[in-house]
Amino acid sequence: MKYVGTRSDEFGKFSFEEAIFSPGYLPDGGLLIPEVIPELSASSLQEWSSLSYAQLCKKIFPLFVGEDEVPTSDLNDIVDQAVAKLKHPKVSKVTRLSNGLNVAELFHTRTLAFKDLSMVTLGQFMKYFLAKRKKNIILIVGTSGDTGSAAIEAIRDHDYIDFIVLVPHCSRLQKLSMFTAVDRNIHIFHGPNMSSDDCDVVIKPVMTDTAFKERHELGTLNSINWGRVMGQIVNYFFTYFSMCPSCDKVVEMVIPTGACGNMTGACIAKKMGLPIKIVCAVNSNDIVHRTFGHNDYSTNEVKPTISPAMDIQIPYNVERVMWLFSGGDRAHIKDVMSKFEKDGKATMDSVLWKKIRETVSSYSVDDDTVKETIRRCWKEESYALCPHTAIAVAYYYHKLANPDPSSPSISVCLATASPAKFPEAMEAAGLPDVASEEVDRWLSLPARFSKLLQDGTEEKVLRARIEGITAAREAGLTGDLYESGHLVL
Ligand SMILES: *Cc1c(COP(=O)(O)O)cnc(C)c1O
Repeated sequence: MKYVGTRSDEFGKFSFEEAIFSPGYLPDGGLLIPEVIPELSASSLQEWSSLSYAQLCKKIFPLFVGEDEVPTSDLNDIVDQAVAKLKHPKVSKVTRLSNGLNVAELFHTRTLAFKDLSMVTLGQFMKYFLAKRKKNIILIVGTSGDTGSAAIEAIRDHDYIDFIVLVPHCSRLQKLSMFTAVDRNIHIFHGPNMSSDDCDVVIKPVMTDTAFKERHELGTLNSINWGRVMGQIVNYFFTYFSMCPSCDKVVEMVIPTGACGNMTGACIAKKMGLPIKIVCAVNSNDIVHRTFGHNDYSTNEVKPTISPAMDIQIPYNVERVMWLFSGGDRAHIKDVMSKFEKDGKATMDSVLWKKIRETVSSYSVDDDTVKETIRRCWKEESYALCPHTAIAVAYYYHKLANPDPSSPSISVCLATASPAKFPEAMEAAGLPDVASEEVDRWLSLPARFSKLLQDGTEEKVLRARIEGITAAREAGLTGDLYESGHLVL
């Protein structure tokens, strides 16, 4: 399988390895996408319906990663190593509540959020290619929350990768989940008063300094990385088979949506032949709802909500969704995206929009509804929802009250994080804290980070750490050189 850009073919085709080590976008701004989406027969669906999560990965990944790049036995090892890093042997499970409310819990992972699932496999693929090439890299990301902790968890104690994470102001548990990764290759810098945009301002000049970037083999790991979307395809097959093992009905997947990475996995699963409909459930940052619901792709200011992982006004993966449903109409995508980038506002042609609407619908809720949904689910089911999952469940409650015969009779809400990770939202909804072994474990672990002062030296500090890592490697030093976050070289 080769990968191509969504906006033009002038940059050629890329291997899977090139795709996952690239920043995810091409010089014209387009995103990488598989050249063709493999289609499954009804009989393979039926055959896969009783497979475990790991077995499904072993069937699905080879459709996107050529045998010439990763031979089958190596791919199977990669999957086994990735799944061994997850906490729950079955990976995910569906909880069935009353009135047909089903919740697919994708958060039984080390950082209590679904991003771990795709990040661990991506981390293992990276490790595999770097070991093969005996090459070291330094990955740098600025993050606000779940992406950072999932990436750290996936990459901690890997040889060949040093990982620098700039952490802006965020919640106490988010900090704990990241700062307790005390591994020699994890370098955390925390700016207690910084925003994620401030972090990007520090990183950008370093990443665009070509000579420096090449000298130190710098890379990044962001939410548009193809490897993450690929991992998320599996979630939909797994969840579908839990809901409908006979494979003869359409299942509605209700997805708490931010940058649309997760729902792009669903769209690809659908294109491959999985009988699903997709509902994007969003908070009051409703650009995705405006786009798919009203063909109004227009950005706005980000409003902070109690579901912070979905506070997004530039949902990068919408571009991949348009590519998928337009049958790869690059000229049209380029046109829509350049308008959006220039004016902050664009529309799709109505044929494409209608095509998307056949599969995708959307629903937006405000914070009060989220709190009310958390309270109602607790009262009726004694079941706690994280504030992201509650947005999907709010859609389901709306559907119960307003039945629509054209909507599938089986629905499942994807639970993207554990309620234990969001005590602030539980408190806001008037619920007790949710106990979690993982949170207790974080509290008992040592933590470390280096503090970033907002005094104009941030970029210098970042460059010094990068130079320190390269110097240590070149000197053959392999121990932990940064005890308590301070260089002891
Ligand atoms: C990242 C995240 C989302 C949004 O996923 P996208 O792929 O960005 O749409 C939803 N819920 C939680 C808990 C997340 O961490």
